[in-house]
Amino acid sequence: MICIHSPASTGQNPQSFFRHGNLRDHPETSERYRILLKAITGHEIIDATDHGTAPITAVHSPDYVEFLMTAWGRRQELAGITDQLVATQFPRVGMNARPTGLQGQLGFYLGDTSTSIRDDTWSAIAGSAHAAVDAADYALKAGKAYALCRPPGHHAYGGYGSGFCYLNNAAIAAQRLRDAGAKVAVLDIDVHHGNGTQGIFYGRDDVLTVSIHAETSAYFPFYSGYETETGTGAGEGFNINLALDHGLGDEPWLAAIAHGLEAIHAYGGTALVVSLGLDASEHDPIGVLKVTTSGFERAGALIASAALPMAIIQEGGYICDALPHNLAAFLNGAD
Ligand SMILES: [Zn+2]
Repeated sequence: MICIHSPASTGQNPQSFFRHGNLRDHPETSERYRILLKAITGHEIIDATDHGTAPITAVHSPDYVEFLMTAWGRRQELAGITDQLVATQFPRVGMNARPTGLQGQLGFYLGDTSTSIRDDTWSAIAGSAHAAVDAADYALKAGKAYALCRPPGHHAYGGYGSGFCYLNNAAIAAQRLRDAGAKVAVLDIDVHHGNGTQGIFYGRDDVLTVSIHAETSAYFPFYSGYETETGTGAGEGFNINLALDHGLGDEPWLAAIAHGLEAIHAYGGTALVVSLGLDASEHDPIGVLKVTTSGFERAGALIASAALPMAIIQEGGYICDALPHNLAAFLNGAD
């Protein structure tokens, strides 16, 4: 399979974030990129092309993209910043003003403390987005392609980031396929709800979004991921959430994927974006589903059986011995 990556993914290497109220080691480090890159040895590996900002602003608001590009350069606005900018105040519903100062804008544009801005954040997230654009293009040319997007993207909304995510690589790929004339479906199998992708397409009927994830009443992203969320306005009926109880293994997860593929078939999708989180693994340090390496291989084969042009976009999946094996297994199944 054609695999696209960006060497800039070695950037944006955060050390810590707040989880359950305590400062913990940050799982979304650049070491993930090195591990995943090694796992695709044997495939055709291509460096991402610089597509500029047009495919990014096709799904993200220009002011948010401008903020991401310029925030680190404004760090002198805050005294004592040496290695990273982190949001510490956040607007609530009804607080709609966009402040001009940097600290206020950090909370306006970034939804939690996990999503810091560092000197090499923009190059890393832009490289990730460009790899997703390439994967969409290769999916149409060659049938399928994998983009090693790191940092990941599916928790990023059109106007703000959160949950380790800044630019929504899957949404960027979906829009790229849409602009090429495809009827697009996004199938998100990360253990976490693909809330950003849902948010970007929630009012649209030209991209079907399907997310299969661990039930969110006590799990990130908490405030979305429920099966009652089906779209709004023209998008009503074009968002599907399939939430699984924690601790389930391969069979219910694969059955949910099969159910999602049936919906995509009924929709008449002509191109597929797969948000490939590997954090549904039984060994993932922050995952709560119990999917085996064999389960990932079967998922790859099941999704490929839809026989649609397919852009596979890397989402979550954190460092454990199984991580590279799970990626290799999924791609092997999809091939
Ligand atoms: Zn995840």
